[in-house]
Amino acid sequence: MPRSLIVQKFGGSSVANPERIKRVAQRVVDTKRQGHEVVVVVSALGDTTDELLALAEQISQNPPERELDMLMATGEQVSVALLAMAIEELGERAISFTGAQVGILTDGTHTKAKLIDIRAARIREELGKGRVVIVAGFQGITMNHEITTLGRGGSDLTAVALAKALQAKVCEIFTDVEGVFTADPRIVPTARKLDTISFDEMLEMASLGAQVMQARSIFVAKRFNVDIHVRSSFTSREGTMITQAVKSMEETVVSGVTLQKDEAKVTIRDVPDKPGMAAQIFRELAQKDVNVDMIIQNVSREGATDVSFTVVKSDLPATLRVARSAAQRIGAGEVTTDEGVAKVSVVGIGMRSHSGVAAKMFETMARERINIEMISTSEIKVSCIVRKAHAERAVRTIHQAFGLHKKK
Ligand code: ADP
Ligand code: ASP
Ligand code: MG
Repeated sequence: MPRSLIVQKFGGSSVANPERIKRVAQRVVDTKRQGHEVVVVVSALGDTTDELLALAEQISQNPPERELDMLMATGEQVSVALLAMAIEELGERAISFTGAQVGILTDGTHTKAKLIDIRAARIREELGKGRVVIVAGFQGITMNHEITTLGRGGSDLTAVALAKALQAKVCEIFTDVEGVFTADPRIVPTARKLDTISFDEMLEMASLGAQVMQARSIFVAKRFNVDIHVRSSFTSREGTMITQAVKSMEETVVSGVTLQKDEAKVTIRDVPDKPGMAAQIFRELAQKDVNVDMIIQNVSREGATDVSFTVVKSDLPATLRVARSAAQRIGAGEVTTDEGVAKVSVVGIGMRSHSGVAAKMFETMARERINIEMISTSEIKVSCIVRKAHAERAVRTIHQAFGLHKKK
């Protein structure tokens, strides 16, 4: 097989209406006519996935997750079919497939299924016939023929996994911005496009709220060394290459600032201050697949202490069920929640070798009179929980303080 296979993924905004679908078709056809084999992954049109979820909410507050997957997977089936038609209109041959049809095998964790394998034989067969192959993003199928989805933003994962399975030359992610920026350009107008970013930094930025790439897709890209080119579907300019660390990256201490708004803080009051209590609470949360983010335990008073932690909002109902029953069992007090929080983070590989990043971030927020409620750090990031109402201002001033807007 020739090594000029390219995977191109188009996000929801790139296929939001018939005009845009036709433009995407033209772009795919141009790539094909340059002599490449092309596999296209598409997301659902515009905000379709959100609209489908809103519909479900009108029917049930607690819908079975299997049925949510059945519902959400319909979105991508619409876009692949329309794109195939648009490409045929331009005189190239194309064929669309659902995830199930091309053997995107997953486990049975509905709404956030994990990939097990991709059986790409059917894709290869169709490429061999000279067709453009279009695959529905975000969806898969279990061994028992149940339809699953890969978590929000999951079309990125479909694209990266296909690029790996087909040994594509490059995986192009077309979206509504020109690449990966030093901060969300919608929040920080002076944000600067990065020419390259390492897998590690992109993984942190994505996990910390930079929705331009789904975090899980970067995890897979790093593991299998799949280079990703994030670029605009509206211009032909070069975007951002996500790749292994390159030397020049080490010179920048901070690469980006991110904002995560869908966090909630949970506090368990009066937890008995003795060994094993935290273990019980967090073991039970882990068993329910709840990802706990920041944890803080207050200073003990009279043999009891308050424990606070953050989770993503979508995990809040499950978290509260577990936390309330655990609190009762261990003799702790009430469990309260706070949805008025957000997480602001700075990310950069250079933090491994430079100190003072946290201090500068805290000083910047102090100057702005923004209170920091929780802090966590890793080798390449510092995160703070602040009031949601102040979060965007925090992002802008931190971005400015680290000089990220300047051309290097
Ligand atoms: P798609 O529908 O193409 O998958 P998404 O909405 O998932 O697009 O991701 C693109 C959006 O990500 C942009 O419109 C931008 O507002 C947001 N974003 C957040 N952080 C960043 C960042 N650091 N760089 C670029 N875009 C970002
Ligand atoms: N349509 C899905 C979502 O909105 C998948 C994606 O866009 O990547 O999450
Ligand atoms: Mg996306």
